[in-house]
Amino acid sequence: MTKYIFCTGGVVSSVGKGVTAAAIGRILKARGIKVTLQKIDPYINVDPGTMSPYQHGEVFVTIDGAETDLDLGHYERFVNINLTRASNFTTGQVYNAVIAKERRGDFLGATIQMIPHITNEIKQRIIQVGRLSEAEVVIAEVGGTVGDIESLPFLEAIRQMRTDVGRENTLYVHVTFLPYIGATGELKTKPTQHSVRELRGIGIQPHVIVARSDYPVSGEVVDKIALFCDVEPRGVIPLVTTPYLYEVPIMLEDAGLGDYLCDALLLPHRPPDLSEWREFVTRLKAPKPRLRIAIVGKYTALHDAYISVREALYHAGVANNYDIEIEWVYSGDLERGREWERLHNVDGIVVPGGFGYRGIEGKIEAARWARENKVPYLGLCLGMQVMCIEFARHVLGWEDANSTEFDKATEHPVIDLMPDQQSLTKMGGTMRLGHYPCVLKPGTKAGEAYSVREVLERHRHRFEFNNAFRAPFEEAGVVFSGLSPDGQLVEIAEISDHPFMVGCQFHPEFQSRPNQPHPLFNALVQAAIAYHRHRHKEVEHSTEEAPVPEGDDHTG
Ligand code: GLN
Repeated sequence: MTKYIFCTGGVVSSVGKGVTAAAIGRILKARGIKVTLQKIDPYINVDPGTMSPYQHGEVFVTIDGAETDLDLGHYERFVNINLTRASNFTTGQVYNAVIAKERRGDFLGATIQMIPHITNEIKQRIIQVGRLSEAEVVIAEVGGTVGDIESLPFLEAIRQMRTDVGRENTLYVHVTFLPYIGATGELKTKPTQHSVRELRGIGIQPHVIVARSDYPVSGEVVDKIALFCDVEPRGVIPLVTTPYLYEVPIMLEDAGLGDYLCDALLLPHRPPDLSEWREFVTRLKAPKPRLRIAIVGKYTALHDAYISVREALYHAGVANNYDIEIEWVYSGDLERGREWERLHNVDGIVVPGGFGYRGIEGKIEAARWARENKVPYLGLCLGMQVMCIEFARHVLGWEDANSTEFDKATEHPVIDLMPDQQSLTKMGGTMRLGHYPCVLKPGTKAGEAYSVREVLERHRHRFEFNNAFRAPFEEAGVVFSGLSPDGQLVEIAEISDHPFMVGCQFHPEFQSRPNQPHPLFNALVQAAIAYHRHRHKEVEHSTEEAPVPEGDDHTG
């Protein structure tokens, strides 16, 4: 019998419900329990693929090509699993499916209602994810905060599941926040009490309250929450803010949550093996020399838009015993001649994925700086396209070179729409999505980084390198080191006369894991270390000031 852990949030949003769900997955997996995770999003969009990163943050792509919530990235990284499209659904999908059934006549004359039709569809999707993955425990996180109108049908559905699948097979975790009142130096439990009351009004009595706080939580506060919210003291788990996300499973485990969940759900008691995880966290927290890597993007004010890129850099940093300090550089600033000092001071540059023209010229100039000054560079999707445009403009001398995404009339469309994208008119879910094989050329930077012949990588794009321009690029020193198995699509391009300038058409960041950094990020970090040492030595051995790079001719 599959068991279900439902995570809801109370008091305020953005307190780390997704990380908590992911961490619960990790501590159960550490006991040899097979888990899967699911994010339920109460918005009406069918998926986040059409939403602005300002609204939503990163769009995470699963192997089977679903555009999903960024919490799936936490789930995959914490539990080290590959999830599928079954692990994320929205109100939009639920209504779409129910209305399609109604039009087909599946309901035989019934009036279609929130209960039972919508709630049945929701429950069926929760049960389905467990079936498909053959998980012993499904951890389902309901997005939003208890009290939101949008989440009511989902809360009703998870309430019903307690009777449907049995009390011993369901457990409710409520993640709340304890505000701190500076004047009296107190943590307040009242908002948590109210949130639990709201939840009980819907018919859900939580078994576990994860109380997030920016300050240490006393035993007294724990007891108070237990008493007022009718939760066993063992079920009240304080979770104090940590700068290290990966510490959360350890904090939950050390607070006794793993054993408590096993007791409550009648799961077999096995000693948890978190040794590898603990070792990773110890290495993450240990003082290390610092490496500065720039992420040159468009949504740099909102770091959530590049969350998997950031994490992939951190993973590679730990593997190489360096602390990665990220310089968030807005490419629009580079266009206006600003922020160049920051870019000139980094040991490596990442240009991540993106859409639309804003900020493109700044990214092209950042790629130029990297190429001309031999700064290690990793281009992800758009970052690879930008690298090719820059090369065409400044090495091949085609000033108008561009992607047809930004200039339809260019005579040098080095990046162009993929043939199967030409006739598409719908935006949602129509890109080249999900994992595809990529064949590597031995002896190249990418070939060496991966040290295998073929890999599967995740994609999300409409444009690609235009094959009509392959020959001139190759003659001028670009190596196409990764191709689709039929040789038709350029998946990786690299500059031969450069220590590490590699662009990939896919998103390697989605596959990086804490203990298994992605080979391309690992190679970037290693190249950045070499570059850092080289720069450092130059400065040490020079009696003069370190050369100040000229910024003026790079302002675009
Ligand atoms: N906009 C580009 C394309 O559609 C790049 C997409 C991306 O970076 N994910 O091909």
